[in-house]
Amino acid sequence: MTKEFTPCDICGNKNFSPLLQVRALKRQIVRCDDCGLVLVNPPEQGYLSIDFEDEEVRKKKYDQINEMLHENFGLRDKDVLKQEEKWKRVHFQSRVGEIQKHQKSGKLLDVGCALGFFLSVVPNEHFDIYGVEPCDISANIAKTKFGGRIFHGTLKEVNLPENSFDIVTMINVIEHVASPNELLKEVHKIMRVGGVLMIETPTLDSLWPKLLKERWWNYREPEHHFFFSSQTMKKLLDANGFALIDSIKAYKLLSLRYLIFQFNRYSQKLVKIMLWALSTLGLADKLIKFPQRDEMIVFCKKK
Ligand SMILES: [Zn+2]
Repeated sequence: MTKEFTPCDICGNKNFSPLLQVRALKRQIVRCDDCGLVLVNPPEQGYLSIDFEDEEVRKKKYDQINEMLHENFGLRDKDVLKQEEKWKRVHFQSRVGEIQKHQKSGKLLDVGCALGFFLSVVPNEHFDIYGVEPCDISANIAKTKFGGRIFHGTLKEVNLPENSFDIVTMINVIEHVASPNELLKEVHKIMRVGGVLMIETPTLDSLWPKLLKERWWNYREPEHHFFFSSQTMKKLLDANGFALIDSIKAYKLLSLRYLIFQFNRYSQKLVKIMLWALSTLGLADKLIKFPQRDEMIVFCKKK
């Protein structure tokens, strides 16, 4: 290995033990010998998050899925995305329900808001909503819905007023950024004391990464650099002035068709057969609550 390790993002230690290799991505996943943080190290291109910069990569993935749908069902892209949007809405509404267990109302900021989909299900009679998004294409689309409530840039770049938010949400963001530690420092600044932070991210406290090892979908996602357990998450929160109040294992609400598509990356053949079976049984559009159990939602308070 010629490239050098980047010091651990949580504890600054420079010694790591190899955990596994993801050959397809030429990446090495290691564990910090001190705090146990699991991460891609050495970093690929300085942990650049391709999904933030490169809309084309994202579009390519969509196109692949849509191509398969067209082949199997003769459906058009628009129809498919529309069908899935219905389930996505229900899925995100369940997240709002979880937030309201801890904070009923207030000024809410969604960090990494993308197109603003989550914001669009947050009830504005209870919440004063804002979003931050570094990808310019996504931010511009979100602005068409929310105008000046969307800030384009990273949290650091947009320089929001200190102590001003009651709730901050980060849904599948922290595993993507170059430094979760720096991100939490920025989040801490802009929140009022006692404010609630919600983080949703894949978790290692699950059977899936243990069973699948380097084939676990999160290790194979090129945009994912950091993989937390409840222990390392707690260390990160402690180090940045947050007190953990609740942690739950997430479930996803999705259609059976969409679930089957997730296996596309393992075997396209198998996916085709299963789609045919679903279609024959009339089950493709059935909504299910999938207990994926490898995603955690963490709630904490600014101390
Ligand atoms: Zn460490």
